[in-house]
This record gives sequence, C-alpha cells and structure tokens, in this order.
Amino acid sequence: MHRMENLKNYDSEIYSLIEKEEKRQFDKIRMIASENYVSKAVLEASGSVLTNKYSEGYAGKRYYEGQQNIDEIETIAIERAKELFGADHANVQPYSGSPANMAVYLAFIKPGDTIMGLALPHGGHLTHGSKVSISGKYFNVVSYELDKETGLLNYGTIMELAKEHKPKIIVAGHSAYPRQLDFKKFREIADEVGAILFVDMAHFAGLVAGGVHPSPVPYADVVSTTTHKSLRGPRGGMLLCKEEHAKAIDKAVFPGIQGGPHNHTTAAIAVALKEALEPSFKDYAAQIVKNAKALADALKEKGYNLITGGTDNHLLLIDLTNKNVTGKIAAKALDNAGIVLNYNAVPYDTRKPFDPSGIRLGTSSVTSRGFRENEMLMIADWMDQIISNPEDEKMLEKIAGDVKDLCAKFPPPGLD
Ligand SMILES: *Cc1c(COP(=O)(O)O)cnc(C)c1O
Repeated sequence: MHRMENLKNYDSEIYSLIEKEEKRQFDKIRMIASENYVSKAVLEASGSVLTNKYSEGYAGKRYYEGQQNIDEIETIAIERAKELFGADHANVQPYSGSPANMAVYLAFIKPGDTIMGLALPHGGHLTHGSKVSISGKYFNVVSYELDKETGLLNYGTIMELAKEHKPKIIVAGHSAYPRQLDFKKFREIADEVGAILFVDMAHFAGLVAGGVHPSPVPYADVVSTTTHKSLRGPRGGMLLCKEEHAKAIDKAVFPGIQGGPHNHTTAAIAVALKEALEPSFKDYAAQIVKNAKALADALKEKGYNLITGGTDNHLLLIDLTNKNVTGKIAAKALDNAGIVLNYNAVPYDTRKPFDPSGIRLGTSSVTSRGFRENEMLMIADWMDQIISNPEDEKMLEKIAGDVKDLCAKFPPPGLD
C-alpha cells in the first residue's frame, strides 16, 4: 500500500475503497486490453501539488502568472514525446484520448463535413463517428468495416469507399483489432481523395514506442494517443503532428475545446515518456506481443475462434459462439475466478452490443507485472475451464485461489 495517512484519517470511506481497489489490482489477472499498471514515479507525479496550478495557454504564452516551473515541465514532456515518436510537434494537454480526437476534428473540419472511420462494432472507437458520440452527430460519417471472411481490414474496399464519399478526414485506429495497421496504404488512400490522415494509436502507442508496431508518425498528418494504455502513463491524451499543422492543433486543444491543462498529469506523462525512452521499454513492448501470441496459440489449440486467426499486437478478440456461451456470461465467470476482461462485439455480431458474442483481452498489464509465456499457458488453461463451465461456482472459487497465489509471485509496478 502506498502511504495515505491523511486520507485515511480524514476520509476513511474513500481510503478503504482505494485500498480495496489496490488489493484487487494485486490479486487479479487484469487483461482488459486498455489497462495497465503505472510506476510509483508516475503515481507520485500525478498525485503532486501541480494539481493546484492554473496554466491556460502554452509555455511562454500563458494567461496567468507563476508559470516558472509549469513551463519547464510541459516543455520537457513535449520534447520527450517528440523524441520518442520522432514527431515534428507534440501537444501534451488533451485531458484524455476522446478530447484529443475532438480537437483533431475541430482543427480540420466543419460540422456536416464527411469523416471516415472504422465502425464501432468492428473495433473502431466511439469518437470515430459513432452515432451516440458527438463525432457521429456533428459530422457526416461513412464507416468502413472488416472483411467478413478474414476479419481483416480490406484496403481495396476502404479505397473504393473513400473515392465514392470523398471524406475530409480518414481515421485509422481501433480499440479491438488484433493486427497491425498498414499506414502506407492509409496514406495512399488519403492522398487519392485529398483527405487528412488521422491515426488514433490510443491502444498500441506503447508498441510503437517500443518498436514492435510500425509507426504512423511518418505517414499521418496527425496522430492521437492516450497515455495510459500500452504506453503505461497516467490517464491522459497527446497529439503529434507535422509542423504545418502545429498551430491548428494547438489552437484546437486550447482555447478550442479545453481550458487549463492538468499539470499533474503533464508531469506524470513526462515521467512515463522518460520510462518509455529507456532501452528496457523495448523489451517490455516485445514481451507484450510475445505474450499475446503465446496466449493466442494456446487458446487456438483448445478450439477457440480468434478473430483474424491470431494476433500481432497486444490484444485478442475471441468469438465464443462455438463454445455455446455469450461474451457476458464468460466475462462474469472469468471475473469471479480472478481473470478480468470485457465482453465485446465481434465483427458481424448477430447479438446485441450489450450482450455480444465475444470477449476482448490484452497483455499490457500482465506483462508489466512480469508474466511471460509460461503464465500465458496457465491463463489459457484456466480460461478454458471457466468458459467450459461458467456456472461451476466451486471450480471458479478454486481457480480464484490459484490466480491469487500466482499473482503473489508477481508484484505489479506501483503497488507493494
Ligand atoms: C481508449 C481509446 C480512446 C479514448 O480514450 P479515453 O481516454 O477513454 O477518452 C480513443 N481512441 C481509441 C482508439 C481508444 O482505444
């Protein structure tokens, strides 16, 4: 437990819930593909007095005084982001991934303009033009889908759609696609129709940083990312772009959609970027992918239907239809047995989004705590037992105990 004496004394109710959450994160195998464990250094920066400071504007051009330290912190974060990703320009102020994406739309298009992104039920994000998101309400959305046979992106089809609808922005990126993206092909499509290429690498930014996923930076006009998924930083967002778009992007973030930046988060992002620049981060990123592949192979051997037949990033998407269990029933049973993931739609799902056919899982968090291929085999065995008998409470309880014993041997970063 990290020391929170004041919180404990003043608000024992919240303190004890945080303590319980810390225990949950220690004792369970966390496989939600968007989650991770940050280091103690990142936690300390994000829990610092920087939360007290207002600093609307950018370094050297602020609206309030007293920015001697904040300007330096934000500049360090920007320089590290540029170095890590080889970008011309970085903006580290977006509150999170979704606001970062809104800033991109604000920077380049007007309400009613056409955007093209991956459909939500096919692994796109809400902010890529879903009807329930502002991105789907203010813009004309043309969604591309995955190939029905292969579950893969079909660049030929995307090209045809783009030629037909002439989008102003093409969004490449996903929250549930287990393969790498071909940014060169996306660039060709965007160039063919004169569109801005906007890559959202929220999920796989850590893999790009670690050199095990191609980088979108040389190809995209603008790249957005969260900082808290595979990149293993605090909850936040970031935009990288070509120099020619720097002004438009900065203006869109502030004053376009945000007020004062969250300086405690900026500092924690700087720390996380320093960690991601260490040689060891390359090993981390490589192990994430090795673990995902090992888990995919083990599950395939047990007859699981992996969308696209496997993975080459950090995540797996599994259609459970042939196992005669829904995604939700499986996810709940797995959680009860100490393996935490989410139910998820699969491409062309015949079930409803709130009760879909699949599950999604990722290896970023478990790799942070030191799990390797061997542990993946154990997880695959447990998952198979649970999914084959999701109502066997006794078995779930037994596995929960075994999971806890395994986790005790692998203390995660940030927790004692
Ligand atoms: C997670 C995610 C986001 C949004 O991030 P938040 O920080 O939750 O707002 C945006 N795009 C993609 C592709 C994501 O996976």
